[in-house]
Amino acid sequence: MQVIMLGLPGAGKGTQATRIAEAFHVPHISTGDMFRAAIGAGTPLGLEVKGYLDAGRLVPDSLTIQVVKERLGQSDARTGFVLDGFPRTLPQAEALEDLLRELDLPLQYALYIHVPRTVLMARLTGRRLCRNCGATYHIVFQPPKHEGRCDRCGGPLYQRSDDSEEAVKTRLEQYAQTEPLVEFYRKRGILRQIDGERAPEAVYADIESLLTASRS
Ligand code: ADP
Ligand code: AMP
Repeated sequence: MQVIMLGLPGAGKGTQATRIAEAFHVPHISTGDMFRAAIGAGTPLGLEVKGYLDAGRLVPDSLTIQVVKERLGQSDARTGFVLDGFPRTLPQAEALEDLLRELDLPLQYALYIHVPRTVLMARLTGRRLCRNCGATYHIVFQPPKHEGRCDRCGGPLYQRSDDSEEAVKTRLEQYAQTEPLVEFYRKRGILRQIDGERAPEAVYADIESLLTASRS
């Protein structure tokens, strides 16, 4: 199963991609997570991308495409994947198409989680992540059982530096570069729009039935 997640920052792509990956036993490949891991580890890639992430700006296409190319070349992606946060520009979408053709892994769906912009600021500024396993929470909408601790692994929760109001504004502006992808995938007949303005369980139920139906 090869799917990508589309939607505004805060639409719920990561939340849903985590569930898909667990249920369908495919790797969850998030370019944002990969960049944050590189920054945390202080690698050359991390040093190069840090300024972009902190400001909420997109990392240049050539660098991002290279990172995804290497990741999709790893053996665990041979049986499928859920891509989250990539592609985000038309050149990235075109590069992905070429790459998947070479790997003979056709995309089944672009899952477009649609939410009104009005809900995003509250979702993003209240987001918390587990430092240890990356699980996503929200201080109001998806609070952990014990404040500041991950339900899954007990790790400490933190706030992303780009979930500040200022960086969120820039990220929402940068989405203008991603918006044309909805039409790009609609034209290819693989866009599926999901109403993301419901509880995460209800959103996932729609995704699960779609993915299960396509398998049988
Ligand atoms: P994205 O990956 O699209 O940026 P996330 O999955 O990280 O978005 O979700 C952003 C924030 O909104 C997180 O704090 C998450 O817990 C919360 N969230 C995700 N889905 C929903 C939902 N359906 N309803 C309310 N809050 C949600
Ligand atoms: P995310 O975790 O998906 O919200 O991404 C966090 C940040 O990582 C973005 O604001 C960008 O700075 C960078 N990033 C992630 N994916 C991409 C991408 N496909 N293209 C360019 N920049 C990206």
